[in-house]
Amino acid sequence: MTLPYAAEALEPVISKETIAFHHGKHLASYVNNLIGLLPGSGFEEAPLQEIVCKATGGILNNAGQILNHNMYFGQFKAPQTDNKPTGKIAEAIARDFGSFDAFKEAFQKAGATLFGSGWVWLSADKEGKLVITQEANAANPVQRGLKPLLTFDVWEHAYYLDYQNRRPDHLAALWQIVDWDVIGKRV
Ligand code: MN
Repeated sequence: MTLPYAAEALEPVISKETIAFHHGKHLASYVNNLIGLLPGSGFEEAPLQEIVCKATGGILNNAGQILNHNMYFGQFKAPQTDNKPTGKIAEAIARDFGSFDAFKEAFQKAGATLFGSGWVWLSADKEGKLVITQEANAANPVQRGLKPLLTFDVWEHAYYLDYQNRRPDHLAALWQIVDWDVIGKRV
């Protein structure tokens, strides 16, 4: 995917250097890996979501990382103080977590306590109830029948250049750049 903003647009929350490595190198590698693995797999024409639900091994891992990163990079905008959701997604967060602050705390805690590499997600279940899940490595909530809405990447490559070991500080800063209009359209 092409970034929907300039590489420096998310500074100082995410630096231009991190975007250069994360989008320009890590995501690009997953795409190249998948292109190399697809011929003869039966998944040549399949959408990413289908591959992630049916494939195994390297095809699953690389397709999962592409799907996850497409959602991740597609959900940000330039930093804004007091950035928060509005409309239906704001109402659903208040209904299912008590308040936006309580949701942020629970989401950050899930991200900070995820052991190793992975992703923390906000998703909607079949009834439309919002849930937070921790997914290891390249996993995506679509594999459990959930509709993914928002994700924070907690692989070290997502934050180490800017925050070193301070994953919780990185997670807390990300709220400034979440584009809630994009998230609302995913519901
Ligand atoms: Mn990543």
